[in-house]
Amino acid sequence: MNAEILCVGTELLLGDIVNTNATFIARGLAAMGINLFYQSVAGDNPERLKRALNIAKDRADLIILTGGLGPTYDDLTKETVAELVGKTLVMDQPTMESIEAYFKKVNRPMTESNKKQAMIPEGATVFENHWGTAPGFGVEADGKIFILLPGPPREMEPMFQASVVPYLARFNDHVFVSQNIHIFGMGESAVEETLRDLMIGLTNPTLAPYAKDGEVNLRVTASAPTEQEARAMIGPVIEQVKERIGDVVYTTEEDSLQAALVKALAAQGLTLATAESCTGGLLSSRIVEVSGCSSVFHCGVCAYSNDMKEQLLGVRHKTLKQFGAVSEQTALEMARGVRKLGGADIGLSTTGIAGPEGGTDKKPVGLVYVGISSPWMEKTIQLNLSRGQWDERNLIRYLAASNALNLALQAVKAKPGTIT
Ligand code: ATP
Repeated sequence: MNAEILCVGTELLLGDIVNTNATFIARGLAAMGINLFYQSVAGDNPERLKRALNIAKDRADLIILTGGLGPTYDDLTKETVAELVGKTLVMDQPTMESIEAYFKKVNRPMTESNKKQAMIPEGATVFENHWGTAPGFGVEADGKIFILLPGPPREMEPMFQASVVPYLARFNDHVFVSQNIHIFGMGESAVEETLRDLMIGLTNPTLAPYAKDGEVNLRVTASAPTEQEARAMIGPVIEQVKERIGDVVYTTEEDSLQAALVKALAAQGLTLATAESCTGGLLSSRIVEVSGCSSVFHCGVCAYSNDMKEQLLGVRHKTLKQFGAVSEQTALEMARGVRKLGGADIGLSTTGIAGPEGGTDKKPVGLVYVGISSPWMEKTIQLNLSRGQWDERNLIRYLAASNALNLALQAVKAKPGTIT
């Protein structure tokens, strides 16, 4: 089955919003083993939408549309698709009731135009919307499948998982299961060079790399009649990868460095405190993204000025004067200071030059020190995170935080008595 994604919205064409729906659905289709050959965007204009739909219908078996299902006059996706496939719109009573219940719950009056959202093409399968009002639906016509989903990602994404995945599974006699191998500290080309034979040679499961924000993910995807069989096929491939590059694989279970760190800290009963300069709270913010972090994260201090590094973290005046704020000595004293302040097992720090101003020959933009202090490990690492890219301040901050998270993860694994 070959698919096309067609996103509807003039805001997308104007560049006012990023087409995250296309990315999300594309990933979902890949995970199900459905080939996606085209993505397109049409504005809120029925004539041009009809033209885009006709093109999609000619070249794809499955057309997934998002947007334009709302109650207003410019929301025309449903009407245009119904006309194209020659189906009339009929009132779906359960949908009507759930829209009424939604408005009651949020204590807002329901308008006449909201009723329009309960109209669906005859014979369509309704995808309930528990996150908003407009339902989605799937309709089969002329040997093609049309799936219509609401535009807002907070409605579209859960609906895709809850309803579209099971709906499409009916057309597939195999299930696809994927698992990610997360790598930090090895570039994409080095990973590819080391594993090229596996990437080319394996067909089921497949092994595919993708790089993002300083990390490399290897996605292992297996197809089998049942989920259990597919999962069983993935395990040996993960083992093969680990045999070759196990030291840079930080997790195969969690979905981020921060999630892997929180889990590792919790498993060892360890606690953490952070002291940040150049990352300005990003490090602690990423830790706090992980639900359950309160059992391991004691405090995060953002000490940007030298005075605050001295007063809050106990960095010595002499250290700052002699070596400067961006130095391994300061990084280490920050880590020690916050460990003591937070009464934690591990103190973690960042200090560096995020740019674009403030760099010198000796201390260029991108120079970052990460420090760690614990009873069994005390060290700093020096990084040069500038990639010479335009507007890279936020990238440098992000990579500094990633390196700090990775160093803390290494420290947990290096604790005497830890079984990894
Ligand atoms: P509503 O009932 O909210 O009107 P809708 O199905 O009619 O939903 P649209 O009006 O097309 O959807 O879009 C609503 C909002 O959803 C947009 O303003 C935008 O913020 C978001 N959105 C729409 N399409 C996309 C997309 N492809 N990617 C990311 N966000 C999107």
